[in-house]
Amino acid sequence: MPAVADPKTVELHPERPLVIVDVDEVLALFMVGFGRFLEPKGYEMRVDRFALFQNIYRAGASEHLDFTEGRTLFDDFFRFGHDHMEPTPHAADSLRLLARTASVVILTNAPDHGRAPRAAWLTRHGMDYPMVINEGPKGEAVATLAGRTRGPAAFIDDLLGNLDSAAEAAPAVHRFQLVADKRLQPLAPSAPDRHRRIDDWPSLRAAIAGALGLPTQ
Ligand SMILES: [Mg+2]
Repeated sequence: MPAVADPKTVELHPERPLVIVDVDEVLALFMVGFGRFLEPKGYEMRVDRFALFQNIYRAGASEHLDFTEGRTLFDDFFRFGHDHMEPTPHAADSLRLLARTASVVILTNAPDHGRAPRAAWLTRHGMDYPMVINEGPKGEAVATLAGRTRGPAAFIDDLLGNLDSAAEAAPAVHRFQLVADKRLQPLAPSAPDRHRRIDDWPSLRAAIAGALGLPTQ
């Protein structure tokens, strides 16, 4: 499925319920994969805060990498590293069940050079759904996507900033937070009064189906 940058043109059904879903730490175990990619290069990932570059160290070092060095490794990972990443358990099966009666659109923030490897990775892992590449907070894209169907919509992300942005731009869209990495789960900022937090896919799938009025599966 080709990736597009524009939520106005991505393929979705105009009547069906809609599931809008993030990739990193939702469908994909990003931190584990990025750590695996870094190890042979002489770096290690120490997940002791909810951050990205501030968790990367040269092996044995006490200071984390600076932003520029971290950003270079991050860009390399999106170009070359997808194979180091595993899908989140039950993510593909859950989407397959939801997709019987809902449209599924993947909404991911990724650098431009990561589009093709990302689409290939999703296809390889049974998640070949239309994909929108976004930049920055996701609220506007969520509002545009949800506005293209008469059905109800749900949005799933791991980052509070994206969920808050969706709440503001598209308040009628049901929001769910899932944090896939077990080490990040206790560290991730949450606001369960605003966005339901469910960290495993089978339970999340049932909650999405309930919120969107999908038949019990
Ligand atoms: Mg994410």
